[in-house]
Amino acid sequence: MRRMGLRAGIIGRVALVLAASAPARASSELGPPLVGARFELRSEGPQVEAREWLAVLEAAWPQYASFFGAAPKLGADERLAVQVHETSEAMNAALERDGVGRIAAGGIYAFKTRKAYFFRQPSAWYTRALLIHECAHQFHARLEGDKDRPGWYAEGVVEHLAQHAWDGTNLQLGIVAPISLEDYPKAALARLDSSDFDFAARLADGGFDRPLGMHLVRLLHRRHAADFRAARKKLDAGRPLDAADWARFGRRDKLEAELRAMVAAEQQPFRVGFVDWDARQFEQRDDGPAWSLRGQAQGVVSGAHAARECAWLEFEAAFPERLGRLGAQLDWIATNDHTVLLASRDGTALVQRMTPEGRWTNLLEPRKLPQKDGSTTFGARRLRIERRADEQGAPLAAVLVDGVELLAAPVRNSHFGLAFDSGTVDFTGIRYAPLAPRTDADAKSGSGKAGPKRR
Ligand SMILES: [Zn+2]
Repeated sequence: MRRMGLRAGIIGRVALVLAASAPARASSELGPPLVGARFELRSEGPQVEAREWLAVLEAAWPQYASFFGAAPKLGADERLAVQVHETSEAMNAALERDGVGRIAAGGIYAFKTRKAYFFRQPSAWYTRALLIHECAHQFHARLEGDKDRPGWYAEGVVEHLAQHAWDGTNLQLGIVAPISLEDYPKAALARLDSSDFDFAARLADGGFDRPLGMHLVRLLHRRHAADFRAARKKLDAGRPLDAADWARFGRRDKLEAELRAMVAAEQQPFRVGFVDWDARQFEQRDDGPAWSLRGQAQGVVSGAHAARECAWLEFEAAFPERLGRLGAQLDWIATNDHTVLLASRDGTALVQRMTPEGRWTNLLEPRKLPQKDGSTTFGARRLRIERRADEQGAPLAAVLVDGVELLAAPVRNSHFGLAFDSGTVDFTGIRYAPLAPRTDADAKSGSGKAGPKRR
């Protein structure tokens, strides 16, 4: 038996943040098996949701196969078995019944039963990521055997795959996750930048943490495909890579520079302000990347904002049935210090700032949205936020609705984004241009080259 998916620390942190939005507990009885082409899934939760998870897994299968270069052979009526529990307690009771024993993690692929088990996490994205994670272990084990493998590799592979977007039909694995509470690219960059990080020592002992292991797998898989395939034979046999194996990927300092460049280039574009955001789509268009995100909140203002300051950000959103107000994030400093534009169904828009004392204050008089088809009601709108400067050079967020300028509000930065309260809302076609980096240093050095400077 192998205890995989040691996520307890992360889960504790996420649970704390999202306690208010955790879904209601369902019964602790597992429902009937839902049988797909490759997987068989049982859940204690709603069957409609379980059917969607099964669809996620069926869509994952060919993408797992594409990553590993092959798929396990299943018997005529054989499916990979998956169990989803509502709580850690229910999962551990099932693991005890199955003779696997209790675990401290959020999930496990158990050698003994060859089943994947996990329990519901505090957000839809994270629960799905764990589903993809544990079943990637299962797929890997069925393909290459139930074996302990070097941690950076075993966990790096499945974490790479689990970075995903799912819009209800299409699944994209192995992407830069548009948004997640657990931000691995950010953690990996911090690790690479820390003064005590020693790449040579980590190659020698294999002690890359998950965020770095995930990116190392990603780098080797994409940029050193043939050599990685060869190295995986050894790793899949459960043996670590030695200095001669690593030397096949080129000079060590060059490999480290490649890893750092990849991590820096593949940072997540959005950050969660509050509370639960799901990554629906990522699309590489001719004019740059576009994303779709779904927010869920109950009775609180919820926001997500660009990780970098923006020159502009735009998106489309339609006012759903059950929603209080809908709009945009105009700046972001902290949960108790940020500015939003929120419009009600009838099109009355307010710019409000949350103050550190925990109060909302109105920055401007209410405005009505520009008319669309003869009405100011929100309906379906395209919003664009542009960074401008006032006469003193202080930043302003200009809000354009369907191309018509509505207002310009004073802001402290241009971490623009999405905001709403109460309900579920899809923001689509989200695009943004990061603010051009300040060029003082470049001007001084006379170098027009932008690139990693810290290491
Ligand atoms: Zn794992």
